[in-house]
Formats: sequence, C-alpha cells, structure tokens
Amino acid sequence: MGRLRKIKNDIDLVKNSDYYLKTIPVPNNELNYLEIGMGKGNFIINMAVNNPEINFYGLDKFPTVIFKAIKKLNKLENKPKNLKFLAIDVSDIFEYFPKNFFHKIFLNFSDPWPKKRHEKRRLTSDTYLKLYKDLLTKDGIIQFKTDNDGLYAYSLENIQAKKDIEIIEFTNNLYAKLNPEDCILTEYEKKFIGMDIPIKLISFKFK
Ligand code: SAH
Repeated sequence: MGRLRKIKNDIDLVKNSDYYLKTIPVPNNELNYLEIGMGKGNFIINMAVNNPEINFYGLDKFPTVIFKAIKKLNKLENKPKNLKFLAIDVSDIFEYFPKNFFHKIFLNFSDPWPKKRHEKRRLTSDTYLKLYKDLLTKDGIIQFKTDNDGLYAYSLENIQAKKDIEIIEFTNNLYAKLNPEDCILTEYEKKFIGMDIPIKLISFKFK
C-alpha cells in the first residue's frame, strides 16, 4: 500500500481531538475491545458505530493514520461516543491501560516483516503473545487477519506450539464461506479482496 505522507504536527492534531485517549480507563463491567495497528480506522470506526454498547480503543504507532481516522469521524453525522485512539507503539500499552482489561483484541493486517532477522517485530511473535495474555481478560479472544502467506504460516505455527493457547478457528480463505459485503472490512482487507488475495484468519485465546 502506498506510503502515506506524514502530516506536519500530526501528533498535536490527534492529541487535541476528543477521540484521543486522555485518561487511563479504570476496569469496568463493560466490554472493551482493542485494535492494534488500526491504520486509517475504517474497521474500528464502523465496529464502534454498529456496537454502541462496547467500548472500542484503537492504537497505531503512526499519528498520521490516526489523523485520517479522526477526519473520517468528523464527517459522520452520528458520531460514536464509544471510541478512543492512542498514538503509541503497542509495546508501551501498559502505560495507558490496566492489565486484563480487554475482552477482544484485533490484529488486522499487521506488518509481515518477512526477514527472519525481523521476526521479533512480528505482532504474533512470542514477546507480543505474552503481552496479549496480560492485556486480555480471562477467556478474552484475539482475532488475527492477514493477506500474507508467510505471516499466516509463521503465526499459526508459533501459536499452535504454545501450551497455554487454544485456537478457536483458523482458515486460509475466510471469504470462501463469508460474503465480504456482510462484513466490516479494514482498508487493507478491502484492497486485498479486490486483488483476489485470500484473507487468512486465526482466532485464539489463552487457557
Ligand atoms: N489495520 C489496518 C492497517 C494495517 S497496516 C488495516 O487493516 O487496514 C499495519 C498498521 O499497524 C500500520 O498502520 C502500522 O503503523 C501499525 N503498527 C505496526 N506495528 C505496530 C506496533 N508495534 N505498535 C503500534 N502500531 C503498529
């Protein structure tokens, strides 16, 4: 996907928005969902609009993409009140959220980092899996989607090898059985479906 031109002062622009997370949420009895690497936000915005009873949090390490998401929201007539963004690297997440806070985490079209020497940067590598375990509530679920065969194979193998993980579902062609038109799609997902690239999914939880 084309590289996005960095917007000047993007971090200040996003931090000034009402959609920017300003206080650390306290544990509550509501459902809290997180998208890691939200990009321009199509998925999380539509999820928030369609599920007003769930709190949605989206983060991305690039403020410029979050700025794009905020621009989309500003155009909406009925603005969701259940949505907050954060421009951080997920590795720093415990500075902003308590442990065991999320009921569901979405990893949508994470960077594939194909080189072996970059394995540690893949969002399904061991350090991140440990982080997700601490982020999730008991029985909380992770849903991972990718277009990338290498990242899918790596992730499936790595996840299957973990004794404390239970795979709920995996498929190398999600839309063989689902109609994309009935689903809330991410920007990347829409693009890859248009190119006839099968979308792969793994959903799993910790035992
Ligand atoms: N989910 C969107 C964007 C996918 S691109 C979609 O499906 O269309 C992957 C995104 O993850 C990029 O915007 C990148 O900045 C973000 N990202 C990658 N590693 C990250 C990390 N460690 N912490 C936070 N965001 C990250």
